[in-house]
Amino acid sequence: MKITRIEPFQIAWAQGAPMEQRSAFLRVHTDVGLVGIGEASPMQGGLASLTILKHHMADALIGADPLDHAVIHDRMLHKLVALGPEGALGGALAALDIALWDLKGKLLGQPIYKLLGGAWRTELPFYASVGRNGERTVDEMCRVLEARLEDKPSAIKIRFDSDRVRVDADIPGDIAKARAARKLVGDDFPLAFDANNGLSLGGAIRLGRVLEELGFWWFEEPVQHYHIREMGEVARRLDITVSAGEQTYTLAGVRDLIEAGVTMVQPDIVKMGGITGLQRCVALCQAHGVEMVGHQTQPTIGHMANMHVVAAQMHATKPIELDDPSARRHGVFTHPIRPINGLFHLPTTPGLGLELIEAEIASRRVDIG
Ligand code: CA
Repeated sequence: MKITRIEPFQIAWAQGAPMEQRSAFLRVHTDVGLVGIGEASPMQGGLASLTILKHHMADALIGADPLDHAVIHDRMLHKLVALGPEGALGGALAALDIALWDLKGKLLGQPIYKLLGGAWRTELPFYASVGRNGERTVDEMCRVLEARLEDKPSAIKIRFDSDRVRVDADIPGDIAKARAARKLVGDDFPLAFDANNGLSLGGAIRLGRVLEELGFWWFEEPVQHYHIREMGEVARRLDITVSAGEQTYTLAGVRDLIEAGVTMVQPDIVKMGGITGLQRCVALCQAHGVEMVGHQTQPTIGHMANMHVVAAQMHATKPIELDDPSARRHGVFTHPIRPINGLFHLPTTPGLGLELIEAEIASRRVDIG
């Protein structure tokens, strides 16, 4: 099997959707007629990652064997490392790796989780990831949480989506919302708090102690993501599990977080090397006794790729993330990715187990320059 064509493009989920609301898809075509699909991080529509694939990777990939995906990943990473190993390059590598794993599964007639060594589970619980609570009142937040409980999540994470240029903007409000969320769901329902990097070290300790009192399950990205030592200090000073890593793109970066003291890392499959990259993170975390809980916000190709990794992971300690529960991303797949009675079910068909509906793709597709 040889690669014959690389086809990166965006998907606009709504007519005229602005750049930052588009998804970044990739199709890899081969000489045996099989096509693999992948996805890059959707930050700013993934345009920078798709451009790297089109202009800096495609020529070198023509004629390559998709089964050489790990060699291809490391060769491309080191060839283009001067672009910066974090951010857009990571997204491009991730999309490519996911598409090559999809091809591998299709060629061998096996779901990816089988090729990873088998599944510990094929029905995956999820947590509802609820963003933008920083701009809501307490009552508004509670109404949104009530609506999300109807999907039967096994946990809820309240995010505050700070703009990161201010810290400790409203700690009393954050505490009031954490208390209201606990009161709404009851004492036993698992809750997590995502500060989205909006706190100072002192602010994080103050808020974290309240979250401990309220029995929150984890406390995510309390301080700026680049303040790795301080992230670790928050983790060391609090009893609650402190997590970080959704903005970490390299294995060495994940190691730095672990060494700083973070006990739950959250690399994202559409940023951190795809399935190959996440498998390496799983091994690193297992060796250090640290939780590996992938970040994943889009219920599309990346979400499915992440589910294969989670299925094959022995210590999957937390549910998978579901940010957008709406049906707007379902229409392009023959079998939409959505939970049934609180569980995502992993398909047993070859590769990712996803098929795109060409006419639906064509009507949403945005070609890149
Ligand atoms: Ca987060």
